[in-house]
Amino acid sequence: MERGQLIVISAPSGTGKSTILHRLLHEDPLCQFSVSHTTRAPRPGEKDAIDYHFVDRSEFEAMIAADKFLEYADVHGNYYGTSLREVLRGQQAGKDLILDIDVAGARIVKSKMPDALFVFILPPSFAQLSARLYGRATDSESTIERRLRNACGEVQAALEYDYVLVNDDLDMCFQQLQMLIRCERLKPARNPEKIKEILESFRQSE
Ligand code: 5GP
Repeated sequence: MERGQLIVISAPSGTGKSTILHRLLHEDPLCQFSVSHTTRAPRPGEKDAIDYHFVDRSEFEAMIAADKFLEYADVHGNYYGTSLREVLRGQQAGKDLILDIDVAGARIVKSKMPDALFVFILPPSFAQLSARLYGRATDSESTIERRLRNACGEVQAALEYDYVLVNDDLDMCFQQLQMLIRCERLKPARNPEKIKEILESFRQSE
């Protein structure tokens, strides 16, 4: 059976990451979304165990104490984390597990699982990110300002990732991400049994 892979994707808020990931998960049956735990309140329309596992701080801290996270981080004042159980769920299903996590979390995953695929999505420029966040008009001015300030720090980490995509065209960016994931599936470590079987057939005929 083919082995699934961890695919870590980070991007500043407003880059279009959620839209791209929704499309990826809709179109690629071999991808599975890693449902994180968070202490932030659900937004309208968000469902528990689908978008996040929504828990309170004491529950989250008990999980930290019990070593139940692959990684966790404090993002904008709330805890967010990927449980080991979620990773196991992806591996058991043989799926590529998509981790939508921040830069701090990605660094922890890199230290523990360096073979994961790390992709950063950049907005085309600061001015365009600012225009997008103000254009969405879903957040208050102070929230937008905080996100823009955070983005200035986050984008500096892009060079630590395996690949950097620039979302100046949503379709193109989606296709590039899909291509990276497909290429990753061609690595020999992803399907060693099948390759060994073919090589063995050559040895036997020598
Ligand atoms: P939001 O609250 O908008 O859903 O997410 C805020 C930020 O938290 C995003 O940058 C997202 O990538 C990050 N995030 C979501 N889940 C996790 C997680 O499990 N671990 C870490 N480190 N960051 C996460």
